[in-house]
Amino acid sequence: MLNTRMKKKQHPLRRKIFAIVMFTVAFVTFGATLIVMNTLGKGIETFDLTFHFSAVQLVKLYLETSVPGSWYERGGVLYKGTDGSFIDGDLYYALKEYLPSDTMILYGAGSPPEPRKNGWEIASEKNRRRPSLAPPPNVVPLDRPVATANGAYTVVRGDGGEVVGWIAVSSDGNFLRRSEFRMRIYLLTIAMGIFFTVAAVLGFLVLRITRPIEQIAAAHKVASDRNIVLAQESRTDPLTGLLNRRGFFATLAEERTVRPSHVAILDIDHFKDVNDRRGHDVGDRVLSDMASLLASRVRAGDLCCRWGGEEFVIAFVGIRDDDALASAERIREAIEGMVIRVEDRREDGTTFGITVTIGVSALGLDGLHGAIASADRALYEGKREGRNRVVAAVRP
Ligand code: GH3
Ligand code: MG
Ligand code: MG
Repeated sequence: MLNTRMKKKQHPLRRKIFAIVMFTVAFVTFGATLIVMNTLGKGIETFDLTFHFSAVQLVKLYLETSVPGSWYERGGVLYKGTDGSFIDGDLYYALKEYLPSDTMILYGAGSPPEPRKNGWEIASEKNRRRPSLAPPPNVVPLDRPVATANGAYTVVRGDGGEVVGWIAVSSDGNFLRRSEFRMRIYLLTIAMGIFFTVAAVLGFLVLRITRPIEQIAAAHKVASDRNIVLAQESRTDPLTGLLNRRGFFATLAEERTVRPSHVAILDIDHFKDVNDRRGHDVGDRVLSDMASLLASRVRAGDLCCRWGGEEFVIAFVGIRDDDALASAERIREAIEGMVIRVEDRREDGTTFGITVTIGVSALGLDGLHGAIASADRALYEGKREGRNRVVAAVRP
């Protein structure tokens, strides 16, 4: 059930509301995540500095307890007392115990190495070549501790102030970046979790709340379909299926580019007799047969209309006077040739025919209505002259 509901295409308005809500949720969730990340990022920088500072302190502490002589620190530089010994190879491993596991300790006696282009190349037991752990190249050796990208660095001076060695404590190059990266992953995962949860709940609510939109839209569609049908019906003559008078004018008004050149008005001769002698039903059939004949005889673009009763109007588009008269004449002949069968028990197998009188007029300055009036006058002239003929109206 849910499946079929999901598969169903949602109303565009519902989809729009859904998209806006989802977008807002995503925007708020990830915006908030960015703010939190930024705040925590600052925390990490602070931690970084603290780490540098305590690293120097730790080095000093260890030197005091494990290397003979007195060590003191001034302005972050370690000074060595009278003994003159410096650091032996065990220092590295001993210091490791005090420092975070991924801390690097690099040291050497004498002056610190000269900076190279990409940092220092420092020899130690752990790393033979590890430029990234060294102070940046623009830091020239140095009477003060230097916070490197990921650690602290200091020279060690003897009593006379001469440089006796150097020591660098550094988190393993990627430690901070790794933890920050990890934090970002955690935060993003949490953010995604929040997003999907909130999105699922809100999405469900939005779909629920906006469900009436579908019902309104469905009702609207039924009404507008019905309107189309009604509009169609109001323009159509139910008996013949041709345009009625309203449909005729509405069609011409809608298709303004189609301007008829001629109109013809047809009236069945002595139709009252058909009704009287054959019955109203037969009269109706005559009307509908004649309508079919007319519709099949006019060109596409011409309009046929049941004007009322047994009268029909044809609007010819884009023809000359003589073509209009010739068309009317062909139609008259075709109607005259129509054979109407009557399956009446009293008059079994009887057939009969009808004739029409047609008035034709070109469209003049007084437009469609004027032309129809002229054609109507010509029609009655034809009736007076004996019916079953085509009569041209005098051009207005
Ligand atoms: P004329 O040659 O002068 O036109 O004679 P007519 O008998 O055709 O003219 P009249 O106006 O006297 O009669 C028209 C008849 O058409 C009268 C009416 O009953 C009939 N009629 C009009 N509409 C319908 C219809 O929808 N169905 C049927 N069966 N007859 C209709
Ligand atoms: Mg009539
Ligand atoms: Mg008639």
